[in-house]
Amino acid sequence: ERIISANLMMDEQAVELSLRPRYLAEYIGQGKAKENLKIYIEAAKLRKEALDHVLLYGPPGLGKTTLSNIIANELGVSLRTTSGPAIERPGDLAALLTNLQQGDVLFIDEIHRLHRSVEEVLYPAMEDFALDIMIGKGPSARSVRLDLPPFTLIGATTRAGLLSAPLRDRFGVVSRLEFYNIDELAFIVSRAAEIFNVEIAGEASVEIAMRSRGTPRIANRLLKRVRDFAQVRGDGIITHSIARSALELLQVDPMGLDHIDVKMLQAMMTTFAGRPVGLDTIAASIGEESQTIEDVYEPYLMQIGFLQRTPRGRIPTDNAYRHLGYPIPGRD
Ligand code: ADP
Repeated sequence: ERIISANLMMDEQAVELSLRPRYLAEYIGQGKAKENLKIYIEAAKLRKEALDHVLLYGPPGLGKTTLSNIIANELGVSLRTTSGPAIERPGDLAALLTNLQQGDVLFIDEIHRLHRSVEEVLYPAMEDFALDIMIGKGPSARSVRLDLPPFTLIGATTRAGLLSAPLRDRFGVVSRLEFYNIDELAFIVSRAAEIFNVEIAGEASVEIAMRSRGTPRIANRLLKRVRDFAQVRGDGIITHSIARSALELLQVDPMGLDHIDVKMLQAMMTTFAGRPVGLDTIAASIGEESQTIEDVYEPYLMQIGFLQRTPRGRIPTDNAYRHLGYPIPGRD
């Protein structure tokens, strides 16, 4: 796995759990999503009703799972976690739903990957808190409706665009999570360092923040690697220079780009000479999957203004040429 990957690595679960904020007040950034949710949560509690269904979308590692846990904590209810591909048959979903208590939260990660047949069970469950079950087979088969306790579904996805319209329409609250700014990430790094019980200089937190691609998961991961470096090469304290040397060793550049970003931009600048190029063509030329590029690389490169999407394809921006030291086409 690459250091920059926003996806969770095998051995990271325990660390993530210890770093995960538990209440809204500890959840850094995402002002707009947080403000809205605070009001909806408050209102649901006053009315003693289940919170409306919530859809959270945005690139991996920005805090969708964390926020779902926080919502359940703030509501004072239990949370059950599953994911789209894990629910194989309609019966699996029925089992999950009938085990919920009044007001509980069911969290479905990667909800865009739900099977069609499972999704259809979800519609009446979300809308009417009801489960339609077929009894018998053939001509004598009939459908029986079971009542479910009112519950809240939280769906998370990196690709809101892949959700079917009927599913998307059944969410009352839709929140897009944004990349974090440097201050927010530096704060997250300092807080994680405190939890790890390691001393870190303010500039070192900022240095890590700058190279974290706007993503808390990456910030925490870089901090862990830098901490190891500080322990082996220094006296355990993360100074600015220790942080910088460690990050250079990890080959994460000052803008957070890794070799795949660089390879991709270079191909666009040289092989395709800066002309608009399609996603699949870029993917094939550098041997990466289109989906990884679309979910992980492209959103960040667009966020920092290195990549532009035009109707005819993707093009690198002037800033990208300058950053990589290539001449801008059509100019000296
Ligand atoms: P996602 O579900 O979007 O892939 P996660 O919720 O698993 O992302 O977040 C990854 C890690 O990043 C969490 O374990 C947590 O430590 C950290 N994190 C995410 N959002 C925040 C935040 N707003 N404040 C502090 N830490 C955060």
